[in-house]
Amino acid sequence: MQNHRKPTSRVRIGALPKHFPRVHAFTASAAACVLVLAIFIPTPDVEARRMPLPVNLTSAEEVVEQPEKVVPLTPRKAIPLAAAATEAIQSLSLTVRNGDTLSDLFKRAKISAGEMYQLLGSGSEAKKLARLNPGEELTFTVDTDGKLQRLALQKDRLSQVRFTRDAQSQFQHDLVQREPDSHPAYRQALIDSSLFVAGSDAGLSDSLIMEMADVFSSDIDFALDIRKGDNFSVMFEEKFLDGEKIGNGPILAVSFTNQGQTYNAVRYVDGNGDANYYTPDGKSMRKAFIRTPLDIVRISSHFNPRRLHPVFKSRRPHNGTDYAAPRGTPVYSTGDGRVIASGYSKANGNYVFIRHGERYVTRYLHLTKRKVKKGQRVKQRQIIGTVGSTGYATGPHLHYEFLLDGRHRNPATIVRKLPKAKSVPSSEMTRFKNQTQPLLAKLENYQGPALAKLDDDN
Ligand SMILES: [Zn+2]
Repeated sequence: MQNHRKPTSRVRIGALPKHFPRVHAFTASAAACVLVLAIFIPTPDVEARRMPLPVNLTSAEEVVEQPEKVVPLTPRKAIPLAAAATEAIQSLSLTVRNGDTLSDLFKRAKISAGEMYQLLGSGSEAKKLARLNPGEELTFTVDTDGKLQRLALQKDRLSQVRFTRDAQSQFQHDLVQREPDSHPAYRQALIDSSLFVAGSDAGLSDSLIMEMADVFSSDIDFALDIRKGDNFSVMFEEKFLDGEKIGNGPILAVSFTNQGQTYNAVRYVDGNGDANYYTPDGKSMRKAFIRTPLDIVRISSHFNPRRLHPVFKSRRPHNGTDYAAPRGTPVYSTGDGRVIASGYSKANGNYVFIRHGERYVTRYLHLTKRKVKKGQRVKQRQIIGTVGSTGYATGPHLHYEFLLDGRHRNPATIVRKLPKAKSVPSSEMTRFKNQTQPLLAKLENYQGPALAKLDDDN
């Protein structure tokens, strides 16, 4: 999971028609098919110039000559087709099949290999056409002489690369990016058996649940602290294309109540364009240490996710926290720092010690593998090893210690006294409030009646 979320940068050069043509919507008349077939008949000299491609060719394959679709040319903004070519022009869309090469598709489109090589030679973006993926759609636009004027590759539902012949007969490329519609969505849940069950029952994807856990990772140990009766409400973006949901955007505002204590966080895109989560009064949610030194995604996917605690803690008269976890589970450094020891001893097994600034040291014992060396700098959440049972350990678990000024401390109680990551600067506070208050108000608005309903149900 990322420490910082940057807003997705988008290139927007032109706009696609609202309803982008679908491959299967072949509705053209028979007359149009005949016309297209006539246009695409290759000339003999073109066949003679065909050369082997540096890609896995299946040239012997019999080609089914069936245009899948005929569409009228749609005027585009970014790179116009050459003026002479705009009359009596036709488009043909072909879907890349398993094992297809660009050469196969040019054959099916009845366009000469010479033109394909000219296109491939037009630059590095065009060279990428040699690696096509099944399901991608290529739209060939040809003039009345059957000469390729434009090739458009639909990479996914949002992006298309177009190669257009310019007035000098050279291919130029541009990217057409569609932007989905975003709408805020709201979910809430009362945790009865586990965070994951509550989240998925509320209609949250696993990745959104993990994103939420990530926001609170400095405040809540999601491996150990979650209890029945904890609850959360979250507002996030849902993305739609042509009325169909295609995915989720980021969490916008979220509230989590853990063992009676409520934490609120809101997303803020600062003046530099960096998105991070803050408390409503502008303190960063990202602190010097995260609470769980383990990849809880891995743990929860291995353990039965219907259990309340994907990791359990056994309290022994010693100075650390034991996280039982499957062997091989990645272990994180809980903060930025420098490795001061990475070695093996009879008791600790494989161990890693990390110093964080002047006052803090964290220790990780019983690892199967160590992934860092003494002296190495590490970042928060960097993998430093994997869970094991080396040394005095009855089964695979991570023994984690947290020391302040050389004394063992309970990370659960010390975390609130730790230095916080930087807050929103006072110069940016007005901007912060303007952006985040509406989000928090919306979350609260949704929350009120809905939580009351939760109470009624109980
Ligand atoms: Zn232990």
